[in-house]
Amino acid sequence: MTETTASPALTHHADTVLRTLHIVTWGCQMNAYDSLRMADVLRPIGYREVATDDADMVIFNTCHIRERAADKLFSALGRLRAVKEARGGRMMIAVAGCVAQAEGAEILRRAPYVDLVVGSQAYHKLPELIAAVEAKRASVIDTDFPAEQKFDFLPEAQSGQGAIANIAIQEGCDKFCTFCVVPYTRGAEQSRPTAAIIAEAKRLVAHGAREIALLGQNVNAWHGEGLDGRDWSLARLLDALAEIPEIGRLRYTTSHPRDMGADLIAAYRHNEKLMPFLHLPVQSGSDTILAAMNRRHTAAQFRRIIDDLRSARPDIAFSSDFIIGFPGETDADFAATMALVRETGFALAYSFTYSRRPGTPAADAAAQIAPEVAHARLLELQEVLREQQHAFNRAQVGRRFEVLFTGPGRHPGQTAGRSPYLQPVVVADAGVAPGTIMPVTITAANPNSLMGTIKQEQIAA
Ligand code: SF4
Repeated sequence: MTETTASPALTHHADTVLRTLHIVTWGCQMNAYDSLRMADVLRPIGYREVATDDADMVIFNTCHIRERAADKLFSALGRLRAVKEARGGRMMIAVAGCVAQAEGAEILRRAPYVDLVVGSQAYHKLPELIAAVEAKRASVIDTDFPAEQKFDFLPEAQSGQGAIANIAIQEGCDKFCTFCVVPYTRGAEQSRPTAAIIAEAKRLVAHGAREIALLGQNVNAWHGEGLDGRDWSLARLLDALAEIPEIGRLRYTTSHPRDMGADLIAAYRHNEKLMPFLHLPVQSGSDTILAAMNRRHTAAQFRRIIDDLRSARPDIAFSSDFIIGFPGETDADFAATMALVRETGFALAYSFTYSRRPGTPAADAAAQIAPEVAHARLLELQEVLREQQHAFNRAQVGRRFEVLFTGPGRHPGQTAGRSPYLQPVVVADAGVAPGTIMPVTITAANPNSLMGTIKQEQIAA
């Protein structure tokens, strides 16, 4: 739906050729990627990015996953209103992303000085929406899920992202977990065409990327017509990307257990560029709660996937997501989650207490859990997860594996990079060029990072 409402606050000047742009990004890697692509869309019409919010255009690229996302937005908008007023109104304020999609006209009602509300499927239309704001001197909302795919209308990515680069290959979700807003804010599952993904990977490699992470809300649901005209799955796409010689590492996130097909598991046997680290959200270890969440898999099926992946790639490690205190969760359900965690062993995990998302089925469930009960369970879970993470990091000491270096470390004389398991690794050797992949011996483990050494002759080479 594209709507306009009178916006007396809008006095954006349309006659400027070169304009400054500031994008505030909240949320996941996908939002960070979307912000890059918004900058790509706006560059041809004269916008260049700046680091401060005193800009001709400020876009809030919002995230709806965490609680109070709308409150966070409105307080940031309130602060920016003063900046806009100090500029005599010569600023365009846009709200994009999932909160824009979910709140729509409510944003203009509460913050009439906002000029543009653009949903997550419409940012390829930013130039025409900006033109509409300027022509009508009124605020514009576009929260459509258009028939055409956004992916087909985005310009080619112009800029590099450094040694580690993301590519969105899939968007939206058809799973409808009962706690999640994504199917409503991002729409139905869409897969980006194969040729566009491979072309973008080659462009990113030309800009120095050595590691490519494929992104999607349900990334392993990606499928599409391959370069050979056949239907490709994510496993086949990863094989095709592995053929690009400059790519040293491949990852993908976020996956759903139901879409961990046999070919994707088998890819861990033969695709050496596929990193041995997988983020696979399970949310709960209780089948009752998994059913109430509409996760469409059981705890046993999750365990089987983990076993199969470990058979395919013995050095693989896992991260996961947990929601604790989901409506109806009993002590026995929580115990089942703890049992699954202890049995599986996670290198990393993200865990939260359940919080209601308006408009989702679970928000109206009768058996909401008392916050203090949920909180106590979360602390118990997090203690075990923290121990597992520390144990995993400690287990790396003495190992030697390849690190992808990304730039200077925090202290002078250091270079930092990423392990195959995404842990930050710091070496006391300056001058290793970003993009270099070389073996490092791990000498010490901190809770969230590793220290290592490289041989001097390797640097000289
Ligand atoms: S699979 Fe993920 S994105 Fe889709 S509804 Fe469930 S939690 Fe949300």
